[in-house]
Amino acid sequence: MANYPLKAHTWKYTSPIFDAHTHVWNTTHLAQTINEQIQLGIESQLVIAHHFEVRAIVEAQFPGKFIFAKYLSTQDIIGSRVERILFEIDTMRENGFTLAKMWVAPGWRNYLKNYEGIFQLTDQRYTPIFEKLASEGFPLLLHMADPDTYYATTYANSKIYGTKDEHLSDLEILIQNHPDLQFQLAHFAAQPEIHRLPHLAEWFEKYDNIVVDTASSRWMARELSKDPDVARKFLIRFSKRVLFGTDATLNTSPTTDNQSPLSPYMARFVAQRILWETNERNTPLPFPDPDTEDLGGTFINGLNLPKKVLSDLYWRNAQRLYGT
Ligand SMILES: [Zn+2]
Repeated sequence: MANYPLKAHTWKYTSPIFDAHTHVWNTTHLAQTINEQIQLGIESQLVIAHHFEVRAIVEAQFPGKFIFAKYLSTQDIIGSRVERILFEIDTMRENGFTLAKMWVAPGWRNYLKNYEGIFQLTDQRYTPIFEKLASEGFPLLLHMADPDTYYATTYANSKIYGTKDEHLSDLEILIQNHPDLQFQLAHFAAQPEIHRLPHLAEWFEKYDNIVVDTASSRWMARELSKDPDVARKFLIRFSKRVLFGTDATLNTSPTTDNQSPLSPYMARFVAQRILWETNERNTPLPFPDPDTEDLGGTFINGLNLPKKVLSDLYWRNAQRLYGT
């Protein structure tokens, strides 16, 4: 890691960028990261506000720059507190939120250990939530499944966590049942693994109401680099359906990744730009990837995407969807 070559890149794409997936929990280090983003050409972004007051503070400091996703509490969702969620959705517009975010990845079981029984977002008790979002015109940013690597390790006990196939099947039923709801499926719909791309292609063919984001630079870099030719063709074919996103937490201290010479935001940003824009081979990921640290690390193979595709990915798709 210490040997990461800090070479100066000349990027192929030189216009403004929309980061469609960032998190803010509090305001520590926030101004510093946002100023860094401005230097990097991040003209606008979709911020998931984890606390109500965060949205107002960010908006006051950087007026009109961002759009905000209202984080619907996982505890409320798992606990079926549907009325409470509907109330939250009712207050979204007046409080300046453009869309909603849900996190129901299998790791929720680590936080709600006493929960017994089967939880499925496709259960009809949740239907009013999706119908309300659709009728109010709020898109939903949804994170429902995780990398294959997690299912092989942390979630290996499928009796507790379920299987990835089950989670993807639930996700498909949900998008099928709510054709009027616009979904932004986080993390490439949990399917950037090369062997899953044909399945994701089927979804794009079948369902008009989904786009995906490229959040989690290490997940995208790790998997799509495994077959850059296949990945490149996929990105070109579905260039209108993919939004650039870093998954960065903007309130992270600039020195968090002490093994990387770059700030956390810069490292994630640079990793993706190498992936999308260059034809580099075996470039080390410029920050730690716990999923590969015992296997020699994560290396990026660039997809060298055409400029038109880059401008869809970095900017135009977000403009079409969120009109910032
Ligand atoms: Zn995220």
